[in-house]
Amino acid sequence: MSTDVAALRSQLEARGIDVLRLIYPDVLGITRSKDLLVSQLERSAANGPAFCQGVWVTTTRGGVLDGNDIMSSGLPDLVTRLDASTLTMMPWEPGVALVVADAFNPDETASEIAPRSALRRVIAQYAELGLTPIIGPELEFYIAERGERGWQRALTRTGRVYTTGAWVDPDGTFLHLLRMLDQMDIGVFAGNHEFSPSQYEINLWHGEALRAADRTFLFKTAVKDIVARSGKLATFLGKPWSDEGGSGFHLHFSVVDANGRNLMATADGGLSDTANLLIAGILENAAALTALTNPTINAFKRLGPDTLAPYRANWGHDNRSAMLRVPPERGAGTRLEVRVGDGAANPYLMIAAVLAAGLDGIRRQLAVPEAAEGWAYQNEAAEVLPTSLEAALDALDANSALRDIIGAPVIDVFGVLKRDEIERYESEVPDPATRDVTQWEIDEYLEDY
Ligand code: GLU
Ligand code: MG
Ligand code: MG
Repeated sequence: MSTDVAALRSQLEARGIDVLRLIYPDVLGITRSKDLLVSQLERSAANGPAFCQGVWVTTTRGGVLDGNDIMSSGLPDLVTRLDASTLTMMPWEPGVALVVADAFNPDETASEIAPRSALRRVIAQYAELGLTPIIGPELEFYIAERGERGWQRALTRTGRVYTTGAWVDPDGTFLHLLRMLDQMDIGVFAGNHEFSPSQYEINLWHGEALRAADRTFLFKTAVKDIVARSGKLATFLGKPWSDEGGSGFHLHFSVVDANGRNLMATADGGLSDTANLLIAGILENAAALTALTNPTINAFKRLGPDTLAPYRANWGHDNRSAMLRVPPERGAGTRLEVRVGDGAANPYLMIAAVLAAGLDGIRRQLAVPEAAEGWAYQNEAAEVLPTSLEAALDALDANSALRDIIGAPVIDVFGVLKRDEIERYESEVPDPATRDVTQWEIDEYLEDY
């Protein structure tokens, strides 16, 4: 898929764009970018730009880790190629536009580590079965302000769940954000204040999985940038404050056939075999899955009983206390809501992992467990989810299904980065077993995620 750079340049110039911000996700899910001058685009975008492959093994603290082929091959180039179909305006930054890039090795083969390539591989395996996965992203986040003790929640009064207006958005930051996102045309349709002070949620329309991941990546990049312009911080970290609720990144997930027909329901309003197999696969792989949907030490402090974030690997009909909720809509709207992940997850790897787990259910024709009834935190029939990143990584290491479907190289590099994170946390935090959010997590994660 090659882009006609000359045509792209004229298109950008006609829209008054003189800087094209090329972005791609690293393995951690952090936005890496380069600003390309549109006047120079034919030369700079013809074969690149190139970066150093060390980006795949760079920690949030900027260190580059050994323990993989990238280092032993001497940090070769990583070549990027922009995908013009992802071109998105930045209305808060006139003259600048965003574009997502794919990553290649110097020999032109697609990078096996690039998260976007990993998601494509998983989607291709659905396509072999005549299936198209559909994803609807729903992200919660906090807006923080710089105070005497560093970043603190912007509002100090109690949360007013499911409200909007001046009381929960005193200086209009949220309303401004919504309007800017609307002009980006990435499928944002609504938003509200959430349970906790200065916590918000914004919803995006569902759509095909790769485009949904791109829209989520553009969304997170934009939200952080728009809010930063006003001197504040938007953070998608799962559990930024010990004394307030966490922020989820819920995924609405369904599959359609080649004609776009939803395959999740039966004619009489029950769940189809396909839906049951997807549920079974996600629950069977739940422990390993959490390594990719909840990929920080902090994330496991969000999961727990009575939090509206899940605690056990279970599912239920319209039940928000379970890991998987089946919303009541039927017909084209029949879907699962996967509630486990948080916004610090790399959207490409998180979607790839949920899809891979579901695919494992289809391939192995796994049996679906009974739906949980009532307050599902107490439902002891279902296993408790991992309570630490280390336990989740151990489960991922022991899981061949996710590894085979997503691809070993990216899982390996992810493991190297995450084991390093755990090692640093354990050696630097006085009481690593604490369930409280530590200053270490704030320093390591709050701004980047
Ligand atoms: N904040 C909850 C979470 O961490 C979700 C609340 C909701 O259902 O909106 O997942
Ligand atoms: Mg919510
Ligand atoms: Mg939700």
